[in-house]
Amino acid sequence: MAIKVRTVERAGSTLMERLYLPEIIKGMGITLRHFLRNLHDSKNIIVRDYPEQKVEIPPRWRGRHRLTTREDGSIKCVACFMCATNCPAKCIFIEATEREDGVTEKMPARFDIDLLECIYCGFCVEACPVDAIRMDTGIFSVVTDNRADMVVTKEQLMQTPGMPGCEPTKEEN
Ligand code: SF4
Ligand code: SF4
Repeated sequence: MAIKVRTVERAGSTLMERLYLPEIIKGMGITLRHFLRNLHDSKNIIVRDYPEQKVEIPPRWRGRHRLTTREDGSIKCVACFMCATNCPAKCIFIEATEREDGVTEKMPARFDIDLLECIYCGFCVEACPVDAIRMDTGIFSVVTDNRADMVVTKEQLMQTPGMPGCEPTKEEN
């Protein structure tokens, strides 16, 4: 069976297009048309006064990570390295230490996530066998003026609460 092939002409090769100016005027004409249309029908323009007016984040949306805690406030993570092993960006750094309260064998002494490397895929959350890491914080904007601040530490991850309605239930604890 013959496959139909549609050849699309490459834009930008004619003399008029290469002159740029007519294309710029054309582009400004489109902008002006939209501007006038919106001016005439301003009711339909959706404006959000961000950051004063926050966006609604659905509960399943993957935001900045957090580490969950037990009811006694201790870290849930058992330093099994499953998240770090599954992380495609290799941006989770864990150092395990012995846990001496008899709850589990190990816990992380250090648990850092380099957010500059993270691709927010959620594999770490999926890989965790004890629901110790979540991305339900609703934090979508992490900004700073230096690279070092983009590495979030265990303490920062533990202090971050989940969005309302995303806290683990008693059974999950
Ligand atoms: S969201 Fe993906 S890239 Fe980011 S830390 Fe988790 S596994 Fe790694
Ligand atoms: S967060 Fe979960 S998967 Fe990662 S080391 Fe801790 S217990 Fe293991």
